[in-house]
Amino acid sequence: NEFVREEFSKGALRNKTVEDVLTPLDECFVLSADSVLDFSCMSAIMQSGYTRIPVYEEERSNLVDMLYVKDLAFVDPNDCVPLSTIIKFYNHPLHFVFNDTKLDAVLEEFKRGKSHLAIVQKVNNEGEGDPFYEAIGLVTLEDVIEEIIKSE
Ligand code: ATP
Ligand code: ATP
Repeated sequence: NEFVREEFSKGALRNKTVEDVLTPLDECFVLSADSVLDFSCMSAIMQSGYTRIPVYEEERSNLVDMLYVKDLAFVDPNDCVPLSTIIKFYNHPLHFVFNDTKLDAVLEEFKRGKSHLAIVQKVNNEGEGDPFYEAIGLVTLEDVIEEIIKSE
């Protein structure tokens, strides 16, 4: 029984990709790099309930940084500090994975790395210009674990 369960969960991890479990970009809580950390912005962050908030420049699909809610511990909303100041100070690394990455591979990466969240990228070769990478969502350790639990 244990064996069967193990094989089954391994199968789900080997056969599914991050694209199957990600949180799509349009459902992600993200911030623009030119945001100001005033009361309304900080309230929205707190109300989102998320610990890690990707930051974009120009377009939502251009995610360039990460804000951790704990970075706000010393921020006073009355000071209206630019988000860019905080982000440059902490300078958290961003992790990217491709949309076709298998769940077992991303799980290994989560185990190895310090971060348990990755931005999912896809090559966009629609349109006339050169192909480019764009973010299509995010995946966290929790999404992978949920898939393991579901398949048991
Ligand atoms: P933690 O549990 O460490 O406090 P969290 O609750 O912010 O973190 P996770 O538990 O890692 O986030 O993930 C829970 C779900 O929320 C997952 O489905 C994940 O894809 C999604 N998620 C995480 N961060 C965001 C975000 N900024 N916007 C939208 N969805 C997110
Ligand atoms: P997050 O990763 O969501 O920022 P965290 O780093 O505070 O949270 P976890 O990643 O859940 O904590 O746990 C990392 C390790 O730190 C675990 O072994 C956990 O038991 C331990 N840990 C968590 N909180 C404390 C604490 N207040 N004091 C000592 N150890 C802690």
